[in-house]
Amino acid sequence: MKEWEKNIRRVVPYTPGEQPRLPDMIKLNTNENPYPPAPGVRLALKEMEEESFRLYPDPAAGLLVEALAECYHRPKEQFFVGVGSDDVLAMAFLTFFYSEKPILFPDITYSFYPVWAELFGIPYERPALDEEFRIVKEDYVRENGGIIFPNPNAPTGLYMELEGVEEIIRKNPDVIVIVDEAYVDFAGPSAMELTDRYDNLLVVQTFSKSRSMAGMRIGFAVGNPRLIQYLNDVKYSFNSYTMSQAALELGAAALKDETYFQETVRRLVATRERTKKELHALGFRFPDSGANFIFATHERYPARELFDALKERHIYVRYFDAPRIDNYLRITIGTQEQMDALLAFLREYIGEKG
Ligand code: PMP
Repeated sequence: MKEWEKNIRRVVPYTPGEQPRLPDMIKLNTNENPYPPAPGVRLALKEMEEESFRLYPDPAAGLLVEALAECYHRPKEQFFVGVGSDDVLAMAFLTFFYSEKPILFPDITYSFYPVWAELFGIPYERPALDEEFRIVKEDYVRENGGIIFPNPNAPTGLYMELEGVEEIIRKNPDVIVIVDEAYVDFAGPSAMELTDRYDNLLVVQTFSKSRSMAGMRIGFAVGNPRLIQYLNDVKYSFNSYTMSQAALELGAAALKDETYFQETVRRLVATRERTKKELHALGFRFPDSGANFIFATHERYPARELFDALKERHIYVRYFDAPRIDNYLRITIGTQEQMDALLAFLREYIGEKG
């Protein structure tokens, strides 16, 4: 090791999903939405003023914050925005997880959490999901420095009813509880309404999945105005202009079209439910996903081999070589046609292997 290497921060980074760009690929590996964003987004892009490029963006992201306030019928002081929910979550880790006590998150969950905890030097513990991949609420009632979990959880897709979420928040009044709702629009009610009653709750959402805007990198948090203030203080100590003006304008445009949003979510959920039936018929098992992906395993066909065979046909899904989940594939829900192509391949594969 070089002498200078002893004095630098060395980390094991998060591994994002592959982003191949093949003309004929079926991309079901990073939970993007197969449908385009609301038509108003393209229009707003066409009409974007030269100022949006030339000038620095509004550091308070007013346009987007106000559009969120209007869309979700809450005061704008309750919103914080960032460059995807990854940025919002990283800021939240930095701001709210500042205790000597360990923060808690599940053993199987979004694999960025341990990376941020390591990067920021936050101690953590990972209570195990039960055999059916459910979060065990009782494990979150002990001394801790904060709690974070996704709902629906990733990569399992399981959604916890709001009563369960509320119980965890209620039993932890002295720490911040972050509920990462990247996939909630495909599942059930958001915990957003609980922020009125619990000042220690931060709910984080994204435009990457249900609003088809992963490429624009837009995420947001909802919480008590004091929490939002603390988050902004940290953000302004890090980078005043996190989001581009283009992202602010296009994000605001996306929020204006509630009908399109509801319809896109409805179509995706319908395809998910159909895909579940077909996968089940082929002998796959999976938790009952409330997200835009299915986390599936087959007792006769190793996930790793299936993953490679699919990739050879340019069908990309996600495989995690991690304890307890190394025989599962996370399959993003695409269009009905894309899922039909995947299912046709699986039928053929299973037929061949017998
Ligand atoms: N949370 C969870 C649980 C996720 O799966 C993802 C997607 N990788 C994110 C947050 C981050 O998404 P984005 O930064 O695109 O908003």
